[in-house]
Amino acid sequence: MVKHSGNPCSICGKDRIVVKTFQEMVGTSMITTSLMKCPDPECQAKIDKQLAKEKKFRDGMKVAAERRLQEKKERAQNTRLRA
Ligand SMILES: [Zn+2]
Repeated sequence: MVKHSGNPCSICGKDRIVVKTFQEMVGTSMITTSLMKCPDPECQAKIDKQLAKEKKFRDGMKVAAERRLQEKKERAQNTRLRA
């Protein structure tokens, strides 16, 4: 069964379809989360690519932040050694 989400695709503007719904208990209430996809497979492929790019960017930011933290730690150690 295809249920329309009333949530248009950000690229082609077609009504996205709900491909999967998850139900989970959060505290005392049941939360329903929907996984939505564009009905156009080519368009969805573009979205997947974009999401992968964004994820890569976020991961890169995380790595850079960790590296800065590590450098800061090393600098602090070097300062202590010189003192
Ligand atoms: Zn689309």
